Amino acid sequence: MTNHGSTQRVFFALWPDEPTRRQCARLQRSIPLFRGRSVAVENLHITLSFVGPVDDTMLRCLLAKAAQFRAKPFNLVLTRVGYFARAKVVWLGPESCPAALQNLVQRLNKGLSHCGYHPELRPFAAHLTLFRAAQPGKSKIEISPVQWRAKAFCLVESRAHPQGVRYHVLRRYPLGS
Ligand code: ATP
Ligand code: MG
Repeated sequence: MTNHGSTQRVFFALWPDEPTRRQCARLQRSIPLFRGRSVAVENLHITLSFVGPVDDTMLRCLLAKAAQFRAKPFNLVLTRVGYFARAKVVWLGPESCPAALQNLVQRLNKGLSHCGYHPELRPFAAHLTLFRAAQPGKSKIEISPVQWRAKAFCLVESRAHPQGVRYHVLRRYPLGS
């Protein structure tokens, strides 16, 4: 990785495989909104742990720690469209967070604390952001659930471009290997 003395903005995420991404995109298109900006289809993800700006030393530590991490694949069923009113975010999420996902986040955060990273204290809320600066319509949103087999997690870099933010998977860590 070539990164000399600069910082990168990174986070750990569940990154949908292509069929799952297409399902999420189809669902996104079907949601009527009063206002809002769609998240680009190629950016759809579930954040596990937001790290933020890191230097090269920290990045190496995160990469190494994540590589030591062991967990099993699990299923995630996204059935709910919700709204974070303060953040003005419309999201897709599970009815309740599967224990496997909750454990993954907890254990990952614990491992990352060895790198000097202190995760936020708010409880983890599994969600995939569909719209930002959003205001949902009044009618109840009916959706067909998205079945997601989570077989990996990723370290992702967030890059700001004039056209908007783009996320780049730096490394994929398979689950169950
Ligand atoms: P922008 O900030 O330009 O609107 P963005 O929020 O999509 O773009 P980032 O701020 O780099 O991009 O965030 C990357 C991911 O991490 C997003 O899913 C975002 O919701 C999440 N995230 C960002 N900041 C935090 C935070 N403080 N706590 C938890 N998750 C965060
Ligand atoms: Mg942000």
